[in-house]
Amino acid sequence: MSYLVLARKWRPQRFADVVGQDHVVHTLQNALNKGRIAHAFLFTGARGVGKTTAARLLAKALQCAQGPTAEPCGTCRACLDVTEGRAIDVLEIDGASNRGIDQVRELRDGVRYLPQAARFKIVIIDEVHMLTVEAFNALLKTLEEPPAHVKFIFATTEPHKIPITILSRCQRYDFKRIGPGDIAARLRAIAGTEKIEIDDEALRLIARAAQGSMRDGLSLLDQAVAYTDGEITAQVAIEALGVIDRRVVVEIVDAVLGRDPNAALEAVGRAFETGIDLRQLLGELAEEFRHLVVAQVVKRPEALIDLPERELAGVVERSRTVDGADLQRLFAMATEHVDALARAESPRLVLDVLVARMASMPPYLSLAELASLVERIAGGGGALPGSGHDGSPRGRTPTGGSDDLGRRGATAAPERPARPAAATSPRTAATAPATARPAGRCEVADEEYAAPCAPTLLPDIDPRWQSAVATVRSQHPALASFLEHGLVIGPRDETLVLRFEQTFYADAVRDQDNLKTVCAAVAEQFANVRRVQIEVGPIARHGSQVSIAEAEAKIAEQRRSTRESEALNSPTVKLAVEIFGGTVLQVKEA
Ligand SMILES: [Zn+2]
Repeated sequence: MSYLVLARKWRPQRFADVVGQDHVVHTLQNALNKGRIAHAFLFTGARGVGKTTAARLLAKALQCAQGPTAEPCGTCRACLDVTEGRAIDVLEIDGASNRGIDQVRELRDGVRYLPQAARFKIVIIDEVHMLTVEAFNALLKTLEEPPAHVKFIFATTEPHKIPITILSRCQRYDFKRIGPGDIAARLRAIAGTEKIEIDDEALRLIARAAQGSMRDGLSLLDQAVAYTDGEITAQVAIEALGVIDRRVVVEIVDAVLGRDPNAALEAVGRAFETGIDLRQLLGELAEEFRHLVVAQVVKRPEALIDLPERELAGVVERSRTVDGADLQRLFAMATEHVDALARAESPRLVLDVLVARMASMPPYLSLAELASLVERIAGGGGALPGSGHDGSPRGRTPTGGSDDLGRRGATAAPERPARPAAATSPRTAATAPATARPAGRCEVADEEYAAPCAPTLLPDIDPRWQSAVATVRSQHPALASFLEHGLVIGPRDETLVLRFEQTFYADAVRDQDNLKTVCAAVAEQFANVRRVQIEVGPIARHGSQVSIAEAEAKIAEQRRSTRESEALNSPTVKLAVEIFGGTVLQVKEA
């Protein structure tokens, strides 16, 4: 006698035996009882959750000699034919291998004829989302005007791939993943009947590894039976099935929560060596974080956490010592990476990096803690939880007494960098000799910020030229800004040469009216100059000879770099960096 795998042997033959899909079974039976039976059904859900089983049960319910009935007898000819897969009026088709238009046309032609032996012609298409677009179109015609004797039952793991035109003509039933508790209970019942010795811990491990699929759960039980002659214990399950030992999961999670990257990575390494599926391991880590969150926020965690009493007590105990926001962040990190891990070429690398990151993350600050820190930075003092006065990274001990902080706050104020607006701008400096200092520029309400406003000249430029440009600016600001790009050569033989690299500036200055203005301003400053000559061409870079524009740019750059280092060294910024454990990436002008 050949051995029948458990999944086939124990396929439910009555609606009552379908596990974990009560909502589906209830609705189907109601419809059957009321005689309100759709002509097309769509069963969706993950693999191994009972879609095909339910489709066959529905076929039986429709064909049974007593039917259509919510409780097929299971003993009549029609029922037995369906059970044994030889009912000529029930066509079971695999959508993956019969996906073309020809197969669907054949099917469509076939269902036109009345059933030969039973009440209905029933077409079950598994993995229906695999059909081609043409095949779906061919199917649609039949669905639009179905013969009264035809029933369609479609099953799919990917309903989103089915055209909306098809979906809208089906009664849809969404099958859930089966809870590990339900799977374990069913496995326990089957093991009892089959005289398989298995302990509770092993059952629980297998049920969890099945990940919501009863079929997978039964296959794993088959494998464990084949692996040992004796009792199936947790150890057997771990060895035979590569299921994950919860102790490993707890070890990694505790290392992460204890901010111990070393221990966390070692535990991952040990788990890896046992050959377990790393994606599953990550899923279990996420699950453990979830357990801890639930244990923190729910009064009766046993309703939501599927663990034996002893382990549940451990979870509740451990959940008391960790921060809830922290757990939620870790849970999110773990779940976000499950897909990336599945796609990764070296999953081990992804998991290692992720676990190391999790274990190295600074603990979360509560909003209240954060608010007090921000207040402290804004006020230059105040209470600061967890900042050591020795400058060490933030621990959770409230060191750094108020005296120390007060002192730091007091010295901070005078060292504040000058406000950008208060600093003398190059423009102010250049203008200063000829025109009055622009009003308001240096008027700063806060005396603390007042910067020296005394007019200064650009050091590399002839002061007479600077004054001449300032005079021009007072009459013709645009012309002055062109002049700033010129290099002054001379004066020689009563001629001042202005050399521009770009024709555009030279042409603008050469304009007759403009040149008159320039000459007048130059004559005021240079005693012996009678003429101004404009030249275009490359400016030889020798000595410190530069244009006003270049000199200003240079000074602006120096000023920017000074202000940047002032900002970086300011006690306020240093304090913020220390408190938040950050790095300054960029200094921007306010
Ligand atoms: Zn029957």
